[in-house]
Amino acid sequence: MYEFGFELRVCRWAEREWSPESDGSVIVSRQLGTRSRRWDTIVLEVDPDALSQRQRFGRKRLDSDLLHVVRNAPEEWAYYREALPDPGYPWRYVRETIHEAGNRGILDTRKRNNKIEIRRRFEYPDWLTRTIAIENKPDLDASATRALADQLERDVAFGLADEVWVATQATDQRVEPALLEDLPVEVGILVFDPDNGATIRWHPRRLAADEPGTRITERPLKSEYDRSAARFEYVSPEGKADTRLALAERAYERGWRSYIDTMRPDCRYFEGRIDSGALVPYCGAKCREQTAAECSGSCPEFAPEPPAWRTKGWPIEGGPGKGIRNLLERRRKRVRSRAMETTPRGSRR
Ligand code: SF4
Repeated sequence: MYEFGFELRVCRWAEREWSPESDGSVIVSRQLGTRSRRWDTIVLEVDPDALSQRQRFGRKRLDSDLLHVVRNAPEEWAYYREALPDPGYPWRYVRETIHEAGNRGILDTRKRNNKIEIRRRFEYPDWLTRTIAIENKPDLDASATRALADQLERDVAFGLADEVWVATQATDQRVEPALLEDLPVEVGILVFDPDNGATIRWHPRRLAADEPGTRITERPLKSEYDRSAARFEYVSPEGKADTRLALAERAYERGWRSYIDTMRPDCRYFEGRIDSGALVPYCGAKCREQTAAECSGSCPEFAPEPPAWRTKGWPIEGGPGKGIRNLLERRRKRVRSRAMETTPRGSRR
C-alpha cells in the first residue's frame, strides 16, 4: 500500500478511535512539523470547552507572531511596546502583526499621541492538552527502520510531542517485524490490519514535553571511521510550548482532509473510494490509488471533467470532483464541531 493512502487511513482511524487520557476530544492533521522535522500524522488531544472559546479567533490559524500578540495583549489600553514582552525580533514586525490582528478582528487597536495602543479582545484559551506524533511506515523493513530510528531518537531527545508512535501495516508473521526492529523503546507501535483496524503492539513512554529538550544537530555516523562528537543544543520548555502551539494552530486550520486542495479532483479520472472508513482518492487512469504528488498539475494523464458531468446544478454544484471536495469539507467542519463537544470515551490503555 502506498504511504499516502495508508496515512489517510491512519488519520481516519485516529479521528474515530483515539481516546484521550482526559475526557477530551481530538483533532487530527497530517504532514505538519517544524523547519527541520515533519510528522506524517499529528493527533491533538484538546479541551472541548477551551476549543470552543478558540473559535472566537476564527477558523484561520494564528501563527507564532500573532500568538505572541494576542496571548500577551493587556485587558486595558496600553502602548504596545510596554504591554508586550520583548519579541526577540524587530518591533516593526510586531507592528505589522498588530495591524493584521486588528484587521482580523481579534485585537483592539487605536492610535493615541502617535503611538499604537492595543487591548485584548478575547482571552486566548488553553485548548491544547497533549500532542501525539505518528510516523507512518506501512512497510517497515530493515532499511526503512534504520532511516526511521535515527529520526525517532531525535524526536525522543527533543520531546516536542507527548508521545511518538510508529504505525505500520500488519503482516502475516507471528511476531510483527516492527517489534523486532531497532526502534527506541519510548516509541509506541500501532499495527494496522485492513479488516480489523489498528492494534497497539507496544505502548509508548510519555516524553518530557514540559522539560528542556535536546536538539541533536549533528551526530557521528555509525561507522568505525567516524569518531566525531555529537553536537546538540538545548531548547527551553517555553520555546517548545510555543512551537507546539503554533503547530496545533496549523493543525486546527487544516485538519487532515486538506490533501484535496493540492490534488486534481477536477480530473475525469479522479474518484473517491471509501476504505477502512476513510475517503481515499483513486485514479481511474492508473487503476490504483494515486499519491498526492502524482495527482498534480504536471500529471501527464490529466484530463478535465467533461462539461456534461457538471450540468446538474452547474456552476453552483460542479461535477463529481467538486462533490468530493465539498464532501470532505463538510466532514472537516463536522469533525471540528464534534471536537468541541465533551465526548468521554473509554481509555485505550
Ligand atoms: S490522471 Fe493524474 S490528475 Fe487525473 S486522477 Fe489520475 S493522478 Fe490525478
